[in-house]
Formats: sequence, C-alpha cells, structure tokens
Amino acid sequence: MLDAFLLRSLAVNGYAPSFTDCAKCGMPGPNRFFSVASGGSICPDCRVPGSVVPSPQALELLGALLTGDWETADACEARYVREGSGLVSAYLHWHLERGLRSLRYVEK
Ligand SMILES: [Zn+2]
Repeated sequence: MLDAFLLRSLAVNGYAPSFTDCAKCGMPGPNRFFSVASGGSICPDCRVPGSVVPSPQALELLGALLTGDWETADACEARYVREGSGLVSAYLHWHLERGLRSLRYVEK
C-alpha cells in the first residue's frame, strides 16, 4: 500500500518510473533491465552501468501498483512484493537526493 502511494506520488510529480517500455528510447516492454537513474525499465541497448535485472513478477507488481490494478497486486507472492519494495525505495531515494541537491543549488 505504501509503495502504491509512493509510486503514485512520483507519477503526480512527473517522476513515474517505467516498468514496461524502455524509459530511454521507448522500446515496447517488458524490458529486463532496470535503472533508477534512467527512469525505470530499460532495453539492452540503453543499459547503463548499475542496471539491475529484477524478476518479471516484481516489475509486473510495480506496474500494477502504479495503475491501480489491485487484483494483480494482491495476487503477487510475498518475495516479489519485497523485491518490488526494494526497487521503489531505491528509486525514491535517488530522486529525492537529486531533488534536494538541485534545491540547494537554487538556494545558492
Ligand atoms: Zn532503450
């Protein structure tokens, strides 16, 4: 539930991660690589250092949370829920840190 809230908050602020199509070139997904710095799922061509390869189930869950597909989200196994939480947390931290950094820059 918290993850769904966080994901939707990101989406409202224009930071929605992609969990299917490539976040960089738009190649239709599902794509197996995931990079918080690149905005979510990315294809092999756009793969950057630090990309991870989440389970397809975890990505499906996050996509379901983002779109409000509770039936799919509820049916997800606990280990994928944990994995998905880790991705959301990593994504959020990265964007919050960057946001705070640019805020500090503005203050100068
Ligand atoms: Zn791509």
